[in-house]
Amino acid sequence: MDATGTSAPGSYPQDSLRSFLHAIHAEPAFRDVRGPTARIELDHNLKRYVFKALYFHCVARSEDLAHLFPEMTTHYPTFQDVRDTYDQEDTDFYRLYSSDMNARHSFKHPGRNCGRKFKVGEPLYRCHECGFDDTCVLCINCFNPRDHENHHIYTDICSDFTTGICDCGDEEAWKAPLHCKADESEAGSGSDSESAAAPIDDFEFDASRIESVLAQAFDYYIDMFNQNIESLPTFTKDITMKLRELVQEKNDAEIKQFLSDLKYRNPCLTRDLDNDNHVVMIYNDEYHNYSQATTALRQGIPDNVHTDILTSKIDSEGRAMLKCADNVDELMAGFFAVQTNGLCATLISWDEYIHQEACKYIIQWIAHSLSIPNANFQTVFRDTLGKVLCSSSNGDLQRGPRATDVVNKYFPNKLPESYTHRYLDQSILDGDNKIPVGYHKTLPESSLDAISNTINKTEPPKNKTYANTRLQCLLYFDNRFWKRLRKDIQNIIVPTLSSSLAYKPVFCEQVVEIFNHITRQVAYMDREPQLTALRECVVQLFTCPTNAKMIFGDNCGYFIDIVWSVIDIFVDFSKIENGSLVWQRVQKTNPTKSYGISLKQGLYTIETLISKVDDANKLLRPAEFISVVTLCKLFNSAWKIKRKEGEHVLHEDQYFIPYLEYTTSIYSIIQTIVNALVNEGCDEALLLNAIRLINTFLGYKSLTYKLVHDSHEVIKFTVSTDRVAYMNPIHTFFSFLIENVPLIKAYETIVYQDSSALPPVPLTSDNVDPMIVFKEQYENRVSQNFDFLKISDFALRSVVLCSQIDVGFWVRNGMSVLHQTSYYKNNPELNTYSRDIHLNQLAFLWEIDDTPRVIYNLLDRWELLDWFDGNADFKETVYQDKIFLIVQHFIAFVYQILTERQFFQTFESPHEKKMSQIKNAIMYSLYAKPLSYSKLLRLVPDYLTDNTSNFDAALNEISIFKEPRGLADNGVFKLQESLYSKIDPLRVSNLGNEFEGSAAIIKKHLNKNKKNDDNSVILQPQLVSVKHMDEGASQLGAFTRHPIFAKIIYKLLQVCLDNEDGTFLNELLHLIHGIFKDDEQANGKSSLPDAYLSKPISNLLLSIVNSKSEIFSESITSKADFLLKKMISKRTEEVFESLVAGFGQEYVDEYKNKKMSEGVNLEETERERKRRLAKKHQAKLMAKFNNQQSKFMKEHENEFKEKDKDDQLEEDGDVDMTAEEKTVEAEDFTCSLCQDEDDDAMFVVPAYHDHTPIFKSADITDPDQFLSKWNGFTNHDSGSVRLLEEWYTDLKDNGQDNTRKVFVSCNHHIHYGCFRRYIQKKRFSTTAFICPLCQTFSNCVVPVQKSISTTNELELLTYEGPMSVELNDYIKTDASLMNHIEPSLVQIIDDCQSFDKNFHKSIKNPRAGVAYILAGNWANTISMFEIASRLDANSNGVFLAGKEQKFKTLKNMLIFIITLVQAYGLPGNMDEYDSEYKSENRTEPAYLNKLFQFIVKDCLFHEESSVQNTIVAAIYAYAMEFFAEFLHRNPFGALLDMEWQHIEEYHAFPPQAPQAIASVLSHKMGFFSKYNDISEEHKIRVSNLAYTSFLRHLIPTLRRCLIMMKVMQLVVSDVDDEPFTLKDMNIESDLIPDEGLSLRETADKMVSLLTNYSSVEDIVTKDNLYFPYDQEYPKDIPHEFCGLIKLVDLSKYLNTYVTDTNAIDLVEENMHTRNSANRLDFKICLTCGVKIHVRSDRHEMSRHLAKHCFKSFGAFLIPNSSEVCLYLGHPPSFIYISAPYLNSHGEAGRNAMKRGDLTTLNLSRYEHLNRLWINNEIPGYISRVMGDEFRMSILSNGFLFTFNRDPRARRRVPPTNEDDSDENFGEMSGEDDDFYSDEDGEEENRFRNMNGQPGEVRDFFQIFETVRNAMDNGENMEGGVDLTTPFLQLFGPQFRGQGGDGDNEEDEQDNDANPFQDPENPDNDEPRTSW
Ligand SMILES: [Zn+2]
Ligand SMILES: [Zn+2]
Ligand SMILES: [Zn+2]
Ligand SMILES: [Zn+2]
Ligand SMILES: [Zn+2]
Ligand SMILES: [Zn+2]
Repeated sequence: MDATGTSAPGSYPQDSLRSFLHAIHAEPAFRDVRGPTARIELDHNLKRYVFKALYFHCVARSEDLAHLFPEMTTHYPTFQDVRDTYDQEDTDFYRLYSSDMNARHSFKHPGRNCGRKFKVGEPLYRCHECGFDDTCVLCINCFNPRDHENHHIYTDICSDFTTGICDCGDEEAWKAPLHCKADESEAGSGSDSESAAAPIDDFEFDASRIESVLAQAFDYYIDMFNQNIESLPTFTKDITMKLRELVQEKNDAEIKQFLSDLKYRNPCLTRDLDNDNHVVMIYNDEYHNYSQATTALRQGIPDNVHTDILTSKIDSEGRAMLKCADNVDELMAGFFAVQTNGLCATLISWDEYIHQEACKYIIQWIAHSLSIPNANFQTVFRDTLGKVLCSSSNGDLQRGPRATDVVNKYFPNKLPESYTHRYLDQSILDGDNKIPVGYHKTLPESSLDAISNTINKTEPPKNKTYANTRLQCLLYFDNRFWKRLRKDIQNIIVPTLSSSLAYKPVFCEQVVEIFNHITRQVAYMDREPQLTALRECVVQLFTCPTNAKMIFGDNCGYFIDIVWSVIDIFVDFSKIENGSLVWQRVQKTNPTKSYGISLKQGLYTIETLISKVDDANKLLRPAEFISVVTLCKLFNSAWKIKRKEGEHVLHEDQYFIPYLEYTTSIYSIIQTIVNALVNEGCDEALLLNAIRLINTFLGYKSLTYKLVHDSHEVIKFTVSTDRVAYMNPIHTFFSFLIENVPLIKAYETIVYQDSSALPPVPLTSDNVDPMIVFKEQYENRVSQNFDFLKISDFALRSVVLCSQIDVGFWVRNGMSVLHQTSYYKNNPELNTYSRDIHLNQLAFLWEIDDTPRVIYNLLDRWELLDWFDGNADFKETVYQDKIFLIVQHFIAFVYQILTERQFFQTFESPHEKKMSQIKNAIMYSLYAKPLSYSKLLRLVPDYLTDNTSNFDAALNEISIFKEPRGLADNGVFKLQESLYSKIDPLRVSNLGNEFEGSAAIIKKHLNKNKKNDDNSVILQPQLVSVKHMDEGASQLGAFTRHPIFAKIIYKLLQVCLDNEDGTFLNELLHLIHGIFKDDEQANGKSSLPDAYLSKPISNLLLSIVNSKSEIFSESITSKADFLLKKMISKRTEEVFESLVAGFGQEYVDEYKNKKMSEGVNLEETERERKRRLAKKHQAKLMAKFNNQQSKFMKEHENEFKEKDKDDQLEEDGDVDMTAEEKTVEAEDFTCSLCQDEDDDAMFVVPAYHDHTPIFKSADITDPDQFLSKWNGFTNHDSGSVRLLEEWYTDLKDNGQDNTRKVFVSCNHHIHYGCFRRYIQKKRFSTTAFICPLCQTFSNCVVPVQKSISTTNELELLTYEGPMSVELNDYIKTDASLMNHIEPSLVQIIDDCQSFDKNFHKSIKNPRAGVAYILAGNWANTISMFEIASRLDANSNGVFLAGKEQKFKTLKNMLIFIITLVQAYGLPGNMDEYDSEYKSENRTEPAYLNKLFQFIVKDCLFHEESSVQNTIVAAIYAYAMEFFAEFLHRNPFGALLDMEWQHIEEYHAFPPQAPQAIASVLSHKMGFFSKYNDISEEHKIRVSNLAYTSFLRHLIPTLRRCLIMMKVMQLVVSDVDDEPFTLKDMNIESDLIPDEGLSLRETADKMVSLLTNYSSVEDIVTKDNLYFPYDQEYPKDIPHEFCGLIKLVDLSKYLNTYVTDTNAIDLVEENMHTRNSANRLDFKICLTCGVKIHVRSDRHEMSRHLAKHCFKSFGAFLIPNSSEVCLYLGHPPSFIYISAPYLNSHGEAGRNAMKRGDLTTLNLSRYEHLNRLWINNEIPGYISRVMGDEFRMSILSNGFLFTFNRDPRARRRVPPTNEDDSDENFGEMSGEDDDFYSDEDGEEENRFRNMNGQPGEVRDFFQIFETVRNAMDNGENMEGGVDLTTPFLQLFGPQFRGQGGDGDNEEDEQDNDANPFQDPENPDNDEPRTSW
């Protein structure tokens, strides 16, 4: 049909284009065959040729091209000029430069939908609130964050596998009108851009001209491919065979004729027998892998020697030329050879090849046109493209050559005259070049009354016609195109048409018309079925409601046609079994897997359409309903299994997988239909008719019966011997439908088989089952055949089967049956198990006139009837010893029949029903333990969570949220305590858990606030009251009161007592409890079923109560007691009579007395009892009233305590940010390895010695720096990062300087001897190992000594002399001990190269100097400690308190220094060493804390100075330099007013400088001329600022001095917890008084404590400071930043990075990254703030650190996954932790962002991360998380992991409070140490506390050890040896991609030759790159 209304022009105004294209082969440049290199050039030229010609024809005048391409420089007067330049690259005017495109921002799409296809790396945005469903997406150009404030936005990053187009502008996709960002950016930028945009926009392109170009191009294209049948899978083989035949006959003339007849022809290309230029083309397929393809290609002897290029071209393009020749004979051999391995090849003429390539470029040209950023052009072009595609070629095609001619001539048997579908079966157009007739089906009226067991009668529709448009031809030819061309075509058609308002419906209708054709082609005639255009069409078209409405339209029959197209394919793989047609696994070989693809595609299509239906009644129309059910019923009982006996199955077949797959889809189709019916409501008559229709299918099976007890006919079937099916989707569907109508009506419909003539519903009085009344009244009209067991028995079989498999009765069938049934039974989405129960409940309700028959059938199906009848002993049934377990299942099932009432329950509204279901699901998921939000969502079925606000509301109502507290945990939800009483462990909702365990948990909670024994709690069966149920279900429990059923109960109780086995007794008693309760509901509170009295059940209960305690558990006896009491209270006399008869009076009296003593009077009358209860109730009320207040308090107190306890448990193993560091006991000198306290041996602690990133230089004159106060950890919420050049240059250049090292230690003591053995055993080195106790990464050891108490009173501040010598008195090392340990010291120093490589190499007296090096590091470590403490609130008040671990490390370092001085003397003059650092042309020394360095070194080593004098000297010297420099550098002009204003605005006013200092400053100003002209007031401002700046820069050093003093005191005092005092003041607590101190007071106080001066000014204003010794002042002191040092600021909301990246100011690391502004695959370096994009080699992080940032370690935020990657340079290692953001559900990490929740920065988490970073603890954290993997990383220097393509999954810190996370975390091995072998007895003994396991991985490490030693002589890794590259080749494939799993590698290693046997052999030059 011609949907556009306008007919294409009869003749084209420019026919020239058509003839130009027709003649393209004749162009000299393309005419002749040529070799591979020349062909590449031809390619380029041909493209140019085609592009230029097409663009040229699109415009009237060639100069108009400039409107499309403003950068165009060449002008072409005529078309000939354009043609002539095809070989000149510089004439490609059409090339677009991205800069140009970006600059003009013309992504606008006015008046149309965006339809942009996503590019790799770009985000696609979905909005939960705005989008209609998940398929609605926006591109980055269109997505406007302002449209979606507070919405749930979730993103995907587009990869090669994601497809889709932007839906911006499509009103059907969005619930609210959106404001495209592309439009806004133009409007927002105001007038400037208007002028720039204007000249581009106003040119009007000529639509008719473009239409003519497109029409001619497409007609040429379609005609060309219509003739091209060689590549069709239906012909390729036949043509080859024909040729082979002819070649064998040597019939040259015939060959020529044949090839010529096959050849493409057009008016300019007639078939010319003499032109013998031919080519062999090879096509891609899906069943050859790379190496097979390569081998096959070689056999064809390609003319390109680089077979791999050919192979990859075939892979990417979909085809390639094998060779070409001017003589076809040369090609024949290769043509045949290449096909022997099954490759697809065609032999075509060279001319045809050129035309095919030209066609390819036409399509590429259209794609190119669609990307031109000119909105006007786009509008015209897209519209015209739609018009041309959606109209027919107007007869041109029909007049052209046809493929049928050549087929008829050579393959006449392929087109048998008689067969209607002969053309479609060959995938060609018919004799008129039109779309051939498809296999359409409709259902005639006569087929609409019932559903056949096979297939209802269908007939072909009359007068089926097709539009025959260009579009339909292109879709019909889809299987002829090669891969790339196919994708290109789809990419121009689908996005353009489906985003066009005008053409989308036309497009859809045309696809639907030939849906049958395409589906068949995909299934039977496609080389690459997964590339089918149908897929994208379905996604883009069928999800659109308007299109769906059209498809479901009243008279078109499209939906039915689609369903039958799918059914037809399934039927091809079906067979009739027991009278029913069922699907069968595909057994034909199907290398392309096309059947599977087509079948899945078909099911997806139907589900999609159903989900979009606008009116649910349409699905219930008989034709539609029967069609869908026909498809579904192919899977009803399609998969059957049979129990195996005898031998255990050896090979488990996997045939069930396709059944499971397809049946799951079928279930999901059914669920979708039911959702539509329930959510939208439907007509009851239609629904009843649907029930009737299904009944015609299910209710009329012919089944065999057998007679039981002479009068009851039960169905003859044995689950354990017959072939049995468990998946019956139609049964499930039936249950769904019945649930949604009143039961009576459903019943009537079924028994009458006539929904239209229903008798009136009988009126019933109370307590009379309407079902019975109904039966009585209408007995004569009931269909005699009706037997509901015929339906319900199938459901029963599934249940029995699942149970039998569960208990291990099918063990010989192997594991697969277990997986199958547990998938079936436990899959909440399928919801099948409860449907099976429902059908069995209906059987009891609807066959109520013969309950015994249903009970017997039940017993028989469970294979328990023989036992029940006494024909088999309990232990001698088929189940043998499994009988107890099977009965357990049986009881649970009966209980569920009695209690599962949700399908009968009546609700006010569907919403209420849904909410009840949601709450139920949440309750049963949460009761066992608290869960995080995501985890809970996973446990609750999808159909309950699709509306999150309902879910959240329900969750909120029934649970309590607990906030996360660790760095890696999530917030969790906890079930409210009051709801535990509502949980019934025997219900289906608790199916996954075992009864007793669940019961214990529930009882524990119920008993929480009482002090009773948990077992005294009696769990109540949960029964929905009859009041809230469909009245047709009121007698649901009747069967349990039947004497036969009571007999079952009796016999089961007896079995338990006889066997003294309580396996199922818990469940059985609970069932009895349920039966009693149900009876009370049905027959009144005092009722007890008679059947339970006539059997002496009470006697059995008493026996249980009085049984010996070891026989039954207490929960059993107390429940039995409870039941017995219940029976007694109701029917006292009868029960006691029975008891006395059974046990004698005495025994019963004893029982009575016992109860009396418990306060229970068993014989009181009902009246007495009531009175007693009333009294009790009253008393209770009073008590409650009185105690309410206090009880409330108490309860909450309990809750509080309990909470704390829980939290502690949960956070086991996590870093608890809130808790203070754990206090370590005073000096625990116990070896971590041998646990000895051997005093004589030297102890060491592991330490990590590395550079620190925290030193930052300052601008002392910048008020923003020195006026910002410390105020705890802060973050600037904009997240914008301003790069401070100097800092990062310094970080990069000086970050690796040896003077910038610090120490971190876990302080775990180890004997040095033990340590050496440990290193050796584990093959570590002394410079890279992990602490054996805590796994912290360490690279050196620090020897430690005990302090001892002496009587010496040392005045630390005033003692004159080197502290390092003086303090020696306080540690234990005496001279003899020193001799003992000195060799170890040497070893330690040498191992780590004196802690400074350069020094180690260059200095003459290294050992004495080491103390000096260490003093520098000690000063740095103190500084680090001081900087970290700035994050504390009230930092100056608390920085010395607590933090024992850090002080311990400092103390150990100091003792090390002291020990070194004792051993080797004072370091002496180190000027030489220091000057080395000055000589490197630095403007500033690497250490910025020079002032403190000076103090430390002077205090420790200076022969005469005292600590206080040194500090005074330092302050004085610094002040002099500082003031001079401040005045010199101060930019006064600006400071005067502007700057002052800024200060007033943002900061507290700087304090007044004291007079004395002001005059010093004033005096100094006199030296600078620039102060001459400024006013006094300004001078005062300057001096105030200078003073303030000085204090702020001085205070860090003063704080460091205090820390130093405390550490010295720690050495002096032998008790750790002695408070730190100076001048009799407790500094830790009293330094800053409660009322606080000003800046000046703080500084003065510190000075007064540290020196003998009382204030800073006292020191500074001393004219001539007197030093009692020859002191050199420190000089050229650098300025260190005095503010907060931290990682970069982060945006307040993580979502902002994802949805509005460009709103946050970030710097790109690499300005040249392609498309960077649009990409979402970036990380942010938290050290420097730059944005880095994913590199294809995934080394973006390591490269960034190495080249642009602080090298040692780093942290990166990955916004898209809400994670932070912690990265360590040596050994290369990394882990992922949750980003410091939490969503509203308290979740962090990947779960936090998944659903688009607003995710907010959690300051304390980020602060914690900052502290890790500042304290150099990131490496240790990484190693502890990685555990064993880190050990591997050390030993392999990390290169193992570079193989690992996606290590992320394994190296993620798991949430600590979720035990079974499914995200496959790496094993977190804590203490487990699997490394020690038991080969060495002594060693084993020594390390006896280790969990020893044979060292399986040892050999593996031996290899690394060997290599490592070979490479670097066992020295430090810093030697610069790049271990990665040369190693790659040495390892076999077993190392690829599995790094972490040592055991596997070990196993394979043993089988393989040692890859290091010949490391000298570098000859192996063929790199193994195939991976
Ligand atoms: Zn868009
Ligand atoms: Zn848009
Ligand atoms: Zn939104
Ligand atoms: Zn030891
Ligand atoms: Zn440790
Ligand atoms: Zn960085």
